[in-house]
Amino acid sequence: MRFPGTDGAWEAVTDQQGHVRTRVRVACERCGAQQLPARALTLRCCEDDGATSVRFSCTRCGLVHVTAVAPEQASALAGVDDVGFESWRRPSEQALTDAAASITEAEIDAWRTMLDDDEVVGDAIESLDPGTR
Ligand SMILES: [Zn+2]
Repeated sequence: MRFPGTDGAWEAVTDQQGHVRTRVRVACERCGAQQLPARALTLRCCEDDGATSVRFSCTRCGLVHVTAVAPEQASALAGVDDVGFESWRRPSEQALTDAAASITEAEIDAWRTMLDDDEVVGDAIESLDPGTR
């Protein structure tokens, strides 16, 4: 299993106390390859679209890396002990962008046609509360 932005997968190593620890090979764009314990990784899932990513911080320079991973990579990583998990939501401003994307070309054309019609616009102005004019 390979992750984008990493140079490999994980490997199980046995520490001096005889505990099996999973270490993950990652790469910092500034500092190069390094190995992190699995607990240094956080698997992230976006509640809005289900997109999965992995976050880790470089132990040398502190740069935070967030790398998108495919669902099958995410589920494999979720099976590794000690990997953290968090879910998140996009900022509300991006939700507005999504709403705007659902407006069709036909709706925009209809809106333009309506604005070109002086009678429609005049009626709309007339219908406004005098206090808002
Ligand atoms: Zn670094």
